[in-house]
Amino acid sequence: MLEVFPKEKRIIAEGANIRKKHVRPKKTGEKGQIVQIPGPIDISNVKFICSKCGKAIKVGYKIVQKKKFRICKKCGQEI
Ligand SMILES: [Zn+2]
Repeated sequence: MLEVFPKEKRIIAEGANIRKKHVRPKKTGEKGQIVQIPGPIDISNVKFICSKCGKAIKVGYKIVQKKKFRICKKCGQEI
């Protein structure tokens, strides 16, 4: 995972929702490029894989010492 925007409930994940952007050459003689930019995807579309269960699971939360942790709802493993 690259970036999380909790307010928007969106994340930017590696390899997900790739957008291609054409970049014009900045100097003459340079070639234009196509760069791939991962776009934001809705957090509800994101599947988390529990390392213990080994499959996509539902995500729960627990708060320990004012820190929020994502946990597997099945086994309680932090993810
Ligand atoms: Zn689990």
